[in-house]
Amino acid sequence: VKQMGGNSYEFYSRLIEKNVVSDYLDLETDLRHALERNEFEVYYQPKVSCETGKIVGAEALCRWNNPKRGMVSPGIFVPIAEEIGLIEPLGEWVLRTACKQAKDWQKKGLNPIKIAVNISARQFNQKNLALWLSNILEEINFNGQLLELELTESMLLENPSISVLKLRGLKTLGVKIAIDDFGTGYSSLSYLQQFPFDILKIDRCFVKNIDQNVKNAEITKALISLAHHLNLVVVAEGVETKPELSFLKTYNCDEIQGFLFSRPLPASEFERLATGELNFMNLT
Ligand code: C2E
Ligand code: MG
Ligand code: MG
Ligand code: MG
Repeated sequence: VKQMGGNSYEFYSRLIEKNVVSDYLDLETDLRHALERNEFEVYYQPKVSCETGKIVGAEALCRWNNPKRGMVSPGIFVPIAEEIGLIEPLGEWVLRTACKQAKDWQKKGLNPIKIAVNISARQFNQKNLALWLSNILEEINFNGQLLELELTESMLLENPSISVLKLRGLKTLGVKIAIDDFGTGYSSLSYLQQFPFDILKIDRCFVKNIDQNVKNAEITKALISLAHHLNLVVVAEGVETKPELSFLKTYNCDEIQGFLFSRPLPASEFERLATGELNFMNLT
């Protein structure tokens, strides 16, 4: 080791760097094949009404189950899919799968639930977005009123005037627009009234310990009030404890999503939860 002297650090760091790069390329290659190999699955996390305690919706969340790697988090593969141009076909697959699933649940007599699908920046930027969506809705005969699209602040602010037009186009199909992870992006409040949103999702970083953390409590109260003044439905993300829940109920949050009620579930388990076959926390 001594003989390698000053070079040993460089040697190892290059080795590590090489490994990191080849691991990444590996992941990318596996990801490119994942769609045709049927390795993706859509999970569903319930959205629960604060007023009735009933499930009123579900967010579709993509899972990648790779035989070699196990479950890979969307936090890892979504940004890569976005970078390599896989997010368009993947996002379309998630949308179709979720809408078909929701239709299937209706056929089985479940109460109609709204289904929320995340849309990435690259998907949002595709040309003829509304036409693309309208073709899919028509093809699978899905009522646009039951679909919510979750977008984030940053993707809309790249080109606000074009974004407004795109959102209006989407809304002619009856779909609802949700602003996801609110408060974590640029948070320019002026765009809240510029863009035709229907739903505001408070990011879970503000929800965490709201019953104890005074700053989070004040921010969340202000966000709920602001959203209601703008006629938006407010959803709190990442509700994990009962005190968080009761705080949100006190301040009139509309809907709640979080591990307290349920983690995202495979379709069959979500179905059992929604039919009451599986137990789920009672809100009232
Ligand atoms: P998101 O849209 O903000 O989704 C909510 C995330 O919070 C999910 O993580 C969910 O599992 C997690 N979560 C829900 N309740 C709780 C809670 O009580 N505590 C904690 N700690 N976490 C909670 P997930 O499924 O890992 O997804 C992460 C992100 O990946 C999503 O954030 C979304 O931005 C993206 N994503 C997932 N599926 C898709 C997809 O089909 N398309 C696109 N474009 N993005 C997706
Ligand atoms: Mg989301
Ligand atoms: Mg979110
Ligand atoms: Mg998030």
